[in-house]
Amino acid sequence: MSHGAACDPTLMTDSSRFRCPACGFTVFNRRIAACESCKAPLPANLMFNGKELARLEEESARIAKIRADMAREAERLEEERQRRRGDGG
Ligand SMILES: [Zn+2]
Repeated sequence: MSHGAACDPTLMTDSSRFRCPACGFTVFNRRIAACESCKAPLPANLMFNGKELARLEEESARIAKIRADMAREAERLEEERQRRRGDGG
């Protein structure tokens, strides 16, 4: 039995939602203010607005902080475990 998720029409529709009004090129990077194909300026409603951008930046900063905390915690636990192993006889 085989099923192709790549052919899912709902995914196709979603990925072709943002198009350049001048040439029809699909806009993947909505942080860039001009079409990557014809360099035509893109309408503001296609772009992330300042609020959305700020939220994205905040989210990535939050994730980076969580990752750093987890790495530090893992390091601490490993250190503790090694110390305990050294004590045991
Ligand atoms: Zn274009």
